[in-house]
Amino acid sequence: MNAPIYLDNNATTRVLPEVFDAMRPFLNEEYGNPSSAYRLGSNASRALEKARAQVAALVGAEPEEIVFTGSGTEANNTALHSALCAFPDRRHIVVSAVEHSAILKHAEFLARRGYEITRIGVDRDGQVDPGSIAEALRPDTLFATVMWANNETGVLSPIADIAAVCAERGVLFHTDSVQAVGKESIDFRAIPGVRYAALSGHKLHAPKGVGALFVRRGAPFTSYLYGGGQEDGRRAGTENLASIVALGRAAELARTRAHEVHRLRDRLEGEILQRLPGCAVNGGGAPRLANTSNIFFPGLEAGPLLLLLDKAGLYASAGSACHTGSVHPSHVLRAMGFPAERAKASIRFSLGVLTTAEEIDRALEILFASIEKLQGLMAA
Ligand code: PLP
Repeated sequence: MNAPIYLDNNATTRVLPEVFDAMRPFLNEEYGNPSSAYRLGSNASRALEKARAQVAALVGAEPEEIVFTGSGTEANNTALHSALCAFPDRRHIVVSAVEHSAILKHAEFLARRGYEITRIGVDRDGQVDPGSIAEALRPDTLFATVMWANNETGVLSPIADIAAVCAERGVLFHTDSVQAVGKESIDFRAIPGVRYAALSGHKLHAPKGVGALFVRRGAPFTSYLYGGGQEDGRRAGTENLASIVALGRAAELARTRAHEVHRLRDRLEGEILQRLPGCAVNGGGAPRLANTSNIFFPGLEAGPLLLLLDKAGLYASAGSACHTGSVHPSHVLRAMGFPAERAKASIRFSLGVLTTAEEIDRALEILFASIEKLQGLMAA
């Protein structure tokens, strides 16, 4: 029996062996608290600072500009919280319509508290136009936030242009770069308008439950959690040191990795489009992450198809699937102007550094066989 094929790397990734090796001592013999003054503690503190430098190097930041958090979600929430505290009199917020729930739910919470939210739409390919951000900004705008790469389609935002627009107008700009870090080359030094950016360990082969926030030097910052003085007083709570060390090592590996995933993704897409006329790549006309392919399968339903794929040993995903196999139409595809039927008939394949050419061959076989099976069931 073949091992299952994992094409859901935007959901999470496997911890790489090198990453696991790096973190293991900090769960065993090097179990010190980085805040302790004796040697076990200073070893831990050194490891923490090494990880900070490794993460900073991956994104073109200074180590002091990296604050470790418990997740990408927490990093996003902390950025918004900081902006909020910096300008208590401003009541207007700009977000893109295709953000992850880690941003959208916070914006909804703020809307219930009386803030005014402007949701910026995207074009048919899922891209945000910097011009529409410029139009939305007002003197009372508190912050704007647009994700670097979309988790469902992989579509990349013109972050440098959007950041420049915000900087020109004196508006704090945050980007959720959870899906981009480790996949795209990022240099925050070259984009001074980015004041905050979130990243997450488990999207780049570190464990779940660790993330980081880039806070540009000089950007307002207010802690989201209160307690101890960890992270230079910026994030209370004893550090998840083993996972932070893992994130540092994963960042180092991502810096030096040669990407082959683009070729495999293009082959997967090419074969599907050739074999199944009528299929289309959602966001296919925009610059995209090299690993992501979101495909519309006309006449099919993503829920039952995903169940068949799962049974046959292929893991992929749809916008947001329930356990029963029913699929809610994705807010991302809906924002791109697609009807609910298209959104419910679309599947995301996200490859990773561990994906092999053989796996793509087998994934295609499984996909075509499952589609035939589903069509047979639907016709019966
Ligand atoms: N932002 C984006 C774009 C994501 O894809 C995710 C995870 O799916 C998150 C934020 C949340 O990250 P975490 O799972 O570390 O909380």
